Formats: sequence, C-alpha cells, structure tokens
Amino acid sequence: MDEPDHRQVSPEVVTGNNCKRMKILAILGTRPEAVKFAPVIHAAARQQGIEMQVCVTGQHRSLVDPVLKFFDIGVNHRLSVMRHNQDLSGLTTRVLEGVRGVLLADRPDLMLVHGDTATCFASALAAFYERVPVGHIEAGLRTHDLSSPFPEEGMRQMVSRLAAFHFAPTAANVATLEQEGIPAERIFLTGNTGIDAVLWARERIRRADPLASLEKNKRSQIRSAKRRVLITSHRRENFGAGIRNICEAIATLAARHPATAWVFPVHPNPEVTHCAQSRLGTLANVALLPPLEYPQFVALMDQSYFLISDSGGVQEEAAALQKPVLVTRRTTERAEAVWGGHALLVGTAHDSIVNAVDRLLTSRVLYDRMCSGTCPFGDGAAANRILGIIAREAGPTGKSHLAATA
Ligand code: UDP
Repeated sequence: MDEPDHRQVSPEVVTGNNCKRMKILAILGTRPEAVKFAPVIHAAARQQGIEMQVCVTGQHRSLVDPVLKFFDIGVNHRLSVMRHNQDLSGLTTRVLEGVRGVLLADRPDLMLVHGDTATCFASALAAFYERVPVGHIEAGLRTHDLSSPFPEEGMRQMVSRLAAFHFAPTAANVATLEQEGIPAERIFLTGNTGIDAVLWARERIRRADPLASLEKNKRSQIRSAKRRVLITSHRRENFGAGIRNICEAIATLAARHPATAWVFPVHPNPEVTHCAQSRLGTLANVALLPPLEYPQFVALMDQSYFLISDSGGVQEEAAALQKPVLVTRRTTERAEAVWGGHALLVGTAHDSIVNAVDRLLTSRVLYDRMCSGTCPFGDGAAANRILGIIAREAGPTGKSHLAATA
C-alpha cells in the first residue's frame, strides 16, 4: 500500500447508526467491472444503513454473469445494450438512455461507477444530467495519451470531470487528480478493489482447472512442462500489427524454450483468434484456450511462472500474486508496477518481447527481484475503505450529502 495519507481511512467497516437508509446504485457492464465491483457490493451488504442496488448494462453479458455467480451477487436491474458489431456511439447512447430510466425509477442518493468503460462514462453522464452524485472507483489512472488505451483514456478523463467522489487506488492517482484541479477533499486514497477480489478468489479456487478444455494428451503435455508462461492480449490498439508481432514472438520463444508451456486464453475478437490459431495453433508446447472464467484465470495466474499481457487489471493482479508481468504496450496507466519492479514495458516489437522473455527465463536474479516487494495497488481492504468513506461523507448525516449536485 502507498504511504499513509490524511484522506486514507482505516479499512474497518463503519457501522453507521443513521436511521434513513442510503440508496446506492452500482452500475457495471464488463467483466473487469464485475470483478472489481464484487468486493464493493460485498462490503455494502455488511454496512448498516446502506442499500445497494446493482444494475448490469449488458455491455459484455456472457462474460459478466459467471463473475456475478462466482461472487454470489444478485442483479436488481438488467439492461440489454449489447448489439452485434456494436459501435461506441450506439453503445454510449443505449447506456445513457437505459441508465436514465433506472435513475428515474429508483432515485438513488449516489451512483457508483468503476474505471473507464463506455458503461462507466455513459452512466456517469446520465447521473450528471439527473443530478445524482457519482462516486468513481479506480479514479485518477492516466496515460495522458487519448489514443492509448483507446477509448479508455478518454472515458476516465471525462468521468473525472463529472464525479463527486474520487476513489483513487494509489498516491500517484491522487496526485494526478489534484493536478487536474479536483478539490483534495473529494479525493480518497483507497487501494484498488481488484486486489481485494483476486485475494478473495485465490482462497476459493482450489478445484478450478484452467486446462480442463484441452484434449487429454495436450493437457498432460502442458501439465508436465517445467513451467508455464501465461499470455493475454485484447487491447484494441494492439489489433493488427501488434497482435501479429506478439504471436510471432511467442512462436520464436516456444521453439527456443521447448520445456516451457506457453498458455494463451484467446480473446474472442476475430483478429486475435485468427492470428493466434494460424501462427500458434499447431505448436506442441503452446496451449490456446478459450477465454477463461475468472476463478480458472486466477488459478492459471497463480500457477504461472510469469505473464505477458496488455491487460490493465492483470498488471495489478500479477503484482498482488507476486508474478512478474511483461506488458505488451508502449505506455501504462499502472506505472506503479514498473516503478516497483513488478512489471516491464516491452511494447509489441518482436525482438523486444523475445529479448525481455529470454532475460526473465534465464536470470534468476531478475526473476526474484520482479517477484519481490509489496503490491503497489492495494492491500485487499479497498472496498471496506470505500464504503466507510461513503457512510462518513455522503450518508444522511455526512458532511458532503448532496452538496455534490449543487
Ligand atoms: N480475466 C478472466 N479471464 C480471462 C482473461 C482475463 O477472467 O481469460 C480477468 C482478469 O483476471 C481481470 C480481468 O479479466 O480481472 C481483466 O480484464 P481485461 O484484461 O479484459 O480488461 P482490462 O483490465 O484491461 O480493462
């Protein structure tokens, strides 16, 4: 965890004795939002005086439902915003209109959104129009490059303009928000709720088998490998040349390190699937898997020697599980992982990926250094902090109550 700050509160749940219950509407639409909201929804259930309703927009329905089932979370409102080949404008419009309907029906005291998705941005905009205060979880992450990651960087910057409460995972995120002119008393250092989720999940995945979908021979071959390296790739800005280079680099590495198993849950986007199948599909020590459900994916991270990924959440989770991660991007909004030595930015050029992996496979000193140190993204108690802050600041007797909408 980052150094203490006057706005960081203790992780104990505040058991308020306010007589009026505060209504909070939590909005989520994608798998990472479901994962990172889960501990917040659990914490709300433990918090007296708070009633939390959950709205799922349907942005990634098939990926969200298994996460909600794993965390045992019920849904109060379901929207169906997803369309075949959906574009961002249509998606934004459908979330805006759908969430407005929920707000008018429910009239919550506060809406919570998470991160940087179209669901997050359009929901925050709907709440802003209806004068409902917004709490932004995972606030203050920036690359300062609107094209990378696209469209997430734009989404999170716009949500910071609309939110009343900013729950920042790290001290650097707090500093960023302050530099953007957000009043310090509206920014709270909490840690990232994704760390709460992955630590909670790790305790409950003993029977999860990430290799279950593989044919028997392949499964035993991967199981008997000296070690596993986990690969993920789904960033829009890596489609095309980026993903081709990543697959080419994995092919080079698989030939160079035959005792290592290269395990790749492949994102369903046709660009990624086609590239992975055509370049890696026949290699003996490469296993291409379907996208994994969260418990299987956490198990696979935990069993892997290190990770190669362009995912945001995976950079945080890898640091919490003390696994090095090579980030196939040119920039990251999770720079704390690089500063702390848990991650290396390797870009998407074939040679730079291959050279970094070679070094990590052959240098025990580098490997041990990348596994050590505390996780810079949180200590597993972020959700309790957020609920404590909400009860204190925004509840019926809270000092900020409704001031946010003024
Ligand atoms: N994840 C998963 N199955 C997979 C790949 C990722 O459950 O096959 C989880 C991962 O543990 C993390 C989240 O999905 O919690 C990250 O999602 P993604 O990489 O799609 O998005 P990002 O974090 O980059 O926004």
